[in-house]
Order: sequence, then structure tokens, then C-alpha cells
Amino acid sequence: MNKPNAYQQLSQHFQQLAKLSHLNAITSWDQATMMPDGGNQARAEALAELAVIIHEKSTQPQLEEWLEQAKSQNLTSVQQASLREMERSWRNSTALPADLVKAKSLATARCEHAWREQRKANNWQAFQVNLQAVMQLAIEEAQIRADKSGLSRYDAMLDLYEPGMQMQRLDLVFGELQTWLPQLIQEVVDKQASWPKLKQYGNFPSEQQKQLGLAVMQKLQFDFKHGRLDVSAHPFCGGVPSDVRITTRYEEEDFTRSLMGIVHETGHARYEQNLPLDLVDLPVGQARSMGIHESQSLFFEMQLGRSQAFVEQLHPLVKQHLTQAKNMPLSELQQHYLSVKPGYIRVDADELTYPAHIMLRYQLERDLINQEIKVADIPELWDQKMQQYLGLSTKGNDKNGCMQDVHWPAGLIGYFPSYSLGAMYAAQFHAALVKAKPDTPDAVAKGDYSGVFAWLKQHIWSQASLYETDELVERATGESLNPAYFQQHLRSRYL
Ligand SMILES: [Zn+2]
Repeated sequence: MNKPNAYQQLSQHFQQLAKLSHLNAITSWDQATMMPDGGNQARAEALAELAVIIHEKSTQPQLEEWLEQAKSQNLTSVQQASLREMERSWRNSTALPADLVKAKSLATARCEHAWREQRKANNWQAFQVNLQAVMQLAIEEAQIRADKSGLSRYDAMLDLYEPGMQMQRLDLVFGELQTWLPQLIQEVVDKQASWPKLKQYGNFPSEQQKQLGLAVMQKLQFDFKHGRLDVSAHPFCGGVPSDVRITTRYEEEDFTRSLMGIVHETGHARYEQNLPLDLVDLPVGQARSMGIHESQSLFFEMQLGRSQAFVEQLHPLVKQHLTQAKNMPLSELQQHYLSVKPGYIRVDADELTYPAHIMLRYQLERDLINQEIKVADIPELWDQKMQQYLGLSTKGNDKNGCMQDVHWPAGLIGYFPSYSLGAMYAAQFHAALVKAKPDTPDAVAKGDYSGVFAWLKQHIWSQASLYETDELVERATGESLNPAYFQQHLRSRYL
């Protein structure tokens, strides 16, 4: 038998890594959903040990040699894409020296842990000391990644979540958004001022909400042979493509959030469940990026889920499963899902005000990494921007201002833009779908989503990471990211 060549060695190596990541994903899911409290310490230790093995394997010295050798092999176009993604994964895993990785993990663990209490106490003074340490290490990290990749500091961090995206483009995208979004929010708020106040129906037992959620997942063709729905404190989509685990959290006084949360996670899940099976354990077989992943959940939640047609089909299911909602008029359900109200908290924001929260965070983290502002400046700048974008002041209210998210304490810089890029890609995909299949709205109105799912499967899900993001989006829609579709979508839905 011939000795395997470098490309084959690499493929085998990354397939083995995928098996280890599989165990990491399922045990992490278990930790968040099923595990009794008493199991926490031992599980944390086991996961830390597994992380060490994964890290060692990801940074093994032979990899560099194999990557070099494979470049001169005669590879098919799929293999070339695969090699590109293996190299990217390797570059990201090996970029940082071990002492920085360790310092970062200690600083973020300390900051995140203390933040839980400091946020409740609105204690910015204590929090900023820890955040300062995390941010200092993030700047160091960004500099090292920048030196190795030839990108700028912020671009090098963006590359971890949204490969190929650059600060210069985000400046254009958010700069443009800033010119029309605050005004549009105001117009919509004025328009909705005459809407009747919503009645509270009170009590919706979790078990009834779960049955409703499962019925909606069925309608959205979630594959229950390859996945399940459970409960966790923070909803997520985890697991592996052959076994996707989505979670939600039921609030007994209000079913609408959990229900649309399930629609959102089902969008993530269907992307995972429809990645190409033959590439599934290789980096090239994985979802393209955070922004593209979010585009699929937001396609389900926003483009489809909050459309008039979908809410009309949701309505009988709601009445059927929830005893307390059996007389709920359709107009009320619609109002729940279309209400626009500027608020302090990002995760509670509606479709229209959400991008304002992201724009603010992008501008601040960009300037922090570029050392144009300091951690100490954050509360004041946060307050200014909240006033400018949403007409709300966070002065003296840091717990509902700059202390609300876990991302910065956890050292995640360059992550926030993915949320809004996802919303923009989703609007662009929807526009391209309707252009390619003009009968889509009629079919959706009849409850037939097969054309929608076929389009997503063909253009996004089955494509995994075969193309870089711009090329994926161009092949699907005929052009690269164009935020004009997002604006059109919001105007036509809300005005
Ligand atoms: Zn999501």
C-alpha cells in the first residue's frame, strides 16, 4: 500500500479532530441541559482535559509541513477549498503563544465570573479593572494575529468569526445604516403609537409551549431523527450535523419569545442538518461563518417567521396548543411580533432596533482595539450613542448599558458585527429567492415552504465552506453583500 500523501494525512488528522470536537459539543450540551449541579466540577475538569488534547492535536508540528507539501499536489477544486480551510483553521489555532492563551483564559474567567455579581450591583468601577485586563490582552492578541496574517488589528479579530470581512467595509455598512436607521425607528414608533395595548393572558404551562414548539419545528422540517429540543438557561444550537441539539427557555407568562426563539434555532439547525455529508468532518464541510449561520436563523425568524403569512399559519397552532390563548385574535399575535420599542437591552430588542445596538458595539470595540478610546471612556460613549440612536440615556445605569453583554468580559472582540451581517444577508437571500421564484409568497401563504427550503439548501446549506463568503453570496444572489435589501425589507414591513 502506498504511503498516504500530505493531503490525505491532513484530511485524516482533521477528521480525528472532528471526532473529539463532537464529544466536546455533546458533553457541553449535556452540561447546559441535563446535568445535575453536582456534576459540574468533574465535567468542567473533563472538558478542560479534552480542550488540552484538542489544542495539542490542532497545533501538532507536522501540520505545517503537510500543509506546505499539499500545496504542490495536484488537487481537485473541492480539495483545494478543503486545504484552504484546513490552513485557516491551523493558522487560527497556532497564532497565539501558549502564555498568552493562558493569560487570556485566566483574565476572561475572572472578568466573566465577577461580572455576574458586578452587573447586578451596577458596579462599573470594579468591573472596569477586570475588563481593562481583558482588553489589554485582546489588543495583544489582535496585534499578533495581525502580524501573522498581514491584516489590520481589528480585521485579524474579525477573521475569526467572519473570514474576509474588513473594518473598511463595516465602516461603510454601519456608516450608511446610521444615516437612516434612527429616523426610521422614530417614524415606526410614531406610527405604532395608536396600536391598542396588548392584553396579558397570564399562564402558559411549559409543557404546552413545548408541544407548540415541536409542532412548529415539524412545520419547518426540522429532522427529529437527527436532533432534538431541550431547555437551557441561554438558548443555543449545538451538537453536530448528524445530531443537532437546540434549546429554548420557557417563560410561563409570555409564550411569544420562546416560540420565535425556537423558530430562530431551527434555522441554525437546518443549516447544520443539511451540510454536505461527504465533507462533514472536514473544515470545508462546516458552516461558512458566524454571519452566514446567523443569516439562516434570521431568515427563519425574521424573513419567514414574522411575515404575515407565517404568523397566520402559526395562529391556529397557538390556539390549539395553549389553553389560555384559545381565544387570542390573530391581530394580537401579529402585533406581538411586529411591535417596535427602543429599549436598553440588546437581547430583548425587536428586529428594527437590534441593528442600532450592534452598530454602537461595533464602533466602540473597533476604537478600543485600535486604541483610539480607553476602557474608562465606555460608559459615557455608550450613553451618547444610545441617546443618538435610540433616544435613551444610560447615565448611571451601566448594568443596563455597557455591562449587559458577556461578549467583552469573555474576550470576544469582532463577534458582534456577525449579528447584523446575518440580518443583512438574510434580507439579500430572501430578495434573490423571490426574484428567482416569483411564486414564493403565494406558496408560503398556502403553507408550502418547500421552494424556500430547496433554494436555501441549494445555495447555502449544501455549499458549506466550499467558497469564501463573498463568492458564496455572489453565487447565490448575483452580487456581494448589499445592505440596501435590508433597508428595503424594513421599510416595507414597518412603514
Ligand atoms: Zn442565532
